[in-house]
Amino acid sequence: MGFAAYPLFAHTSSKFVFKEGERIPAKGYAAFSKEWNFKPFSFTRHPLGENDILIQIQYTGICHSDLHAVKGDHAMPNYPMVPGHEIVGEVVAVGKKVSKFKIGDYAGVGCMVNSCGECEACKQSKEQYCMNAKTIFTYNSKDVFHNNEITYGGYSNNIVLSEKFAIKIPKNAEIEKVAPLLCAGITTYSPIKFSRVKKGDKVAVAGVGGLGHMALQYMVALGAEVTCFDILPSKKEACLKLGAKEFIDVKSEEFKNIANRFDFIISTIPYYYDLNDYHKMLKFGGEMAIVGLPASKESPHFDTNRFIWQFQNKKIYTSLIGGIKETQEMLDYSVQNKIYPKIELISIQELNEAYQKIAKGEADFRFVIDMKSLD
Ligand code: NDP
Ligand code: ZN
Repeated sequence: MGFAAYPLFAHTSSKFVFKEGERIPAKGYAAFSKEWNFKPFSFTRHPLGENDILIQIQYTGICHSDLHAVKGDHAMPNYPMVPGHEIVGEVVAVGKKVSKFKIGDYAGVGCMVNSCGECEACKQSKEQYCMNAKTIFTYNSKDVFHNNEITYGGYSNNIVLSEKFAIKIPKNAEIEKVAPLLCAGITTYSPIKFSRVKKGDKVAVAGVGGLGHMALQYMVALGAEVTCFDILPSKKEACLKLGAKEFIDVKSEEFKNIANRFDFIISTIPYYYDLNDYHKMLKFGGEMAIVGLPASKESPHFDTNRFIWQFQNKKIYTSLIGGIKETQEMLDYSVQNKIYPKIELISIQELNEAYQKIAKGEADFRFVIDMKSLD
């Protein structure tokens, strides 16, 4: 490869220049405390390995997990932290052994960038559940494959990773809407498939934000009858437009009285809630997937006695994103069927304000950062 220098695309004036084997300069926005406090931040990424690709990031979605991570809701935050695991961009450099991508292709990156590749979970392409605990998450994660450095995510101009963990994005995709599919899309697609949701099923989405409105669209596409539950009644109109049969405010009397109605429920709720409310709504033999990740100190709990005596033969399980193979399947399916998130494009300078809005419940489904604004 020798000396790699390349002018980048029309939308940016910047150039990445780096030598083979050297670290790659990058810039982005980092959080410096749990109050987020995003500011410009320059850093470097590990050198391009022979199986790696370098992506110039064009768009990055803001997931509620990013807020949890910055606040340290589940794990110890490392500051400065560059979040972002809903990433899409153009491949601008490839290592010698790369075969899946060529320069100029679109590529996506979700929540993970590496794993052991040898355990049973990795062999089944469920890399998010790596049994050797070597799933390397896209940011705030110790990268055991690169000298234990802490990973930096997609609120930045580039990312380098093994081609195995990058998703191919078809050229006909609506590129500015693709980024949220890499987390919100796969996290809902995977359990919907796992529970075999089908035409005519009565199903529900609890919490209709970034993840929830993707779950709604996937289940409508499958021909299921979808009920939406959210804390914000103003979401009703948008949910009905996306194909929901009904919208129910979780603060209403109606909500409390629902029982034995659904074949499947997916909960994306990011704060404390009463799990028993939803469990009782499942039909005999119904299933509930929990993907929402409230802060550890706000975690919902089971009333086990009630479960055993009153609500038999129902399943509740949790689900974490999806493996690389399934993420590619979800991406191809979504683009082919034009299932995209509803997005609001923002500049990277608006990050602090966007976080404020998400925390206050004022976000409209998904913010996506237009990385042109970083120039
Ligand atoms: P959003 O903030 O976009 O959406 C959450 C939605 O739930 C909002 O509409 C929110 O309303 C609503 N809500 C809040 N409280 C309640 C309640 N008590 N009952 C019903 N609805 C409620 O978040 P995301 O969709 O980005 O993420 C959702 C959760 O999923 C987060 O905890 C995130 O960390 C997690 N996640 C999990 C993954 C996994 O692999 N398991 C992967 C990605 C994310 P309002 O806007 O008014 O607050
Ligand atoms: Zn996410």
